[in-house]
Amino acid sequence: MELFNSLIRETRSLLEKGSPKAWDYAPGETWKDIGSSELVLQKDAAFELGASGRGSANYVLFTSDPALVDRDQILLYGPDLREIRGDVDFARIVLLRVGVLDDDEEQVYRVLKDIEFAKYHVYPEGYMVRMSPENYREQVRVSKQAIRGGISFRAIGNSYIQAYKKDPNVLNATVIFVTAPGFDYKAMKDNAKKASDITNTLTHILEGLSTDCTVCALKDICDEVEGMKELHFGVGDKGHKH
Ligand code: SF4
Repeated sequence: MELFNSLIRETRSLLEKGSPKAWDYAPGETWKDIGSSELVLQKDAAFELGASGRGSANYVLFTSDPALVDRDQILLYGPDLREIRGDVDFARIVLLRVGVLDDDEEQVYRVLKDIEFAKYHVYPEGYMVRMSPENYREQVRVSKQAIRGGISFRAIGNSYIQAYKKDPNVLNATVIFVTAPGFDYKAMKDNAKKASDITNTLTHILEGLSTDCTVCALKDICDEVEGMKELHFGVGDKGHKH
């Protein structure tokens, strides 16, 4: 699957100027999960990641190319949770290598949706995540108690990787956290929007959109995204009705 490959390359180049801390996935070293969302009150909060007025971006990109994603790994650009002293910019970007081929568009779509859903199944203790999918942000309130208990991005990253890897289609997961000032969070947010446009285009294709590119409202996305047209015309070749 190559639909998201150019976004993976763009994301890597946005981060190129930083030197991350890196940890390999350690399955036994996740942060405690409380199984449902927790309310961290403002008075109990140490700080917020990606709070309003701060940069914030959240997205997941998929590929089948091991040259782009080949490890289960956590990368951190910026201070770790116990080093942060006040509200900071925040991005969480997930790169997944999946074992799905483009020629079965329904399977591609189903796998993407299943995997996107998995992100709602991580509830780390003292780490209250609020997603705003409509503006591609993620805001996290971290409790003072979690800081005292030793919370870290390594442990949170392990929790996410464990959740993603429950899906047998996920072969590798790299979770990237960005907390340092000076990165282009706006560009990351633009990437998040493009990723969502790709998924939405897939939805329309599956709904039986006509294969006439000259009148198609999605042409801009398809012109930009490698593999999208091939995927759509593949549907036609297999005799699907439009
Ligand atoms: S391949 Fe052509 S018809 Fe299909 S979604 Fe893209 S622009 Fe539209």
